[in-house]
Amino acid sequence: MLVVMKQDASQASIDRVVETIRSMGYDARPIPGRQRTAVGLIGNDGRVDSARLEGLEGVLEVIEVSRPYKQVSREWKVEDTVVTLPNGTRIGGREIVVMAGPCAVESREQIVGIARTLRDMGATVLRGGAFKPRTSPYSFQGLGIKGLELLAEAREASGLAVVTEALDAEGVDLVAEYADIIQIGARNMQNYTLLRRAGQVGKPVLLKRGMSATIKELLLAAEYLLAEGNGQVILCERGVRSFDTHTRNLLDLTAIPVIQGLSHLPIIADPSHGTGIRAKVLPMARAAVAAGADGVMIEVHPNPEMALSDGAQSLYPEQFAELMEQMRVICRALDRSLVPPLDLETSVPAP
Ligand code: PEP
Ligand code: MN
Repeated sequence: MLVVMKQDASQASIDRVVETIRSMGYDARPIPGRQRTAVGLIGNDGRVDSARLEGLEGVLEVIEVSRPYKQVSREWKVEDTVVTLPNGTRIGGREIVVMAGPCAVESREQIVGIARTLRDMGATVLRGGAFKPRTSPYSFQGLGIKGLELLAEAREASGLAVVTEALDAEGVDLVAEYADIIQIGARNMQNYTLLRRAGQVGKPVLLKRGMSATIKELLLAAEYLLAEGNGQVILCERGVRSFDTHTRNLLDLTAIPVIQGLSHLPIIADPSHGTGIRAKVLPMARAAVAAGADGVMIEVHPNPEMALSDGAQSLYPEQFAELMEQMRVICRALDRSLVPPLDLETSVPAP
């Protein structure tokens, strides 16, 4: 439930609404907007007497949020959420973010080297798994803590922000110490204890769509993060299971405009896991941005033939340079722009 305040409502009347909601046994969250402030009522609001709130001074109207997800919905917050990272990268506004890097952190040489290359080509966020959720228990599982330390070194050397996955609730705090964005993978989208913990640590979260998850289930998973007080959430379409075996997954680009209609959260696309095939990554990255995505996440490896995971879908650095060129062209057509490249001296976006 959302209590919408009049444009000229005083702070005292907003405070009064918050107090009243709390006295009714619910949590209240003021949501300042460009036009007006709203106060969200959090909890199972099925039996709330809205007349009591409607009668308070400064209240314009009380809206029942009709969606099962509340805080992630556009009804709750009309304006787009913009997530800002410590290196100045803004995700969810007019700018389009490119996150890139290997599937997994493999060595210092690999991750620091590729981070510098990607930064020089215009990426601003480095991806790389230290803890890898692998389908087979015999596949490379990641370097663990060593991988996190190497990511921190790569950030230091390149200025890129770091996104990396936390596999379980117990591992969230450790990942949060090193990462600028905590990734929750497709296989874990409905791991609710992990979601709750990730919602509590105060770092942005990249939430990937489960491979058989509906859009509603994705938004409800994001709701867990917001319900814990973390509004810095980026959604990611990474392909869903389909009957066709030509590609690894079916990158559901329809999800992008659909989600933008339903939610204020930024949404990016991952055409690497979405297709599983190097040659299909560029066209689908172009298509994702053309469809309105706020960015892309791309696997790039200095030597894909030698990659310990997902080599077949990893771009060569030269292909990534080409992708960046194509992204710039598409951005112009959409009256958007890429996140400005990092200033090599200070590691913050050039003005
Ligand atoms: C990844 O990005 O490293 C990954 C494992 O992706 P997903 O969770 O989408 O399979
Ligand atoms: Mn991968």
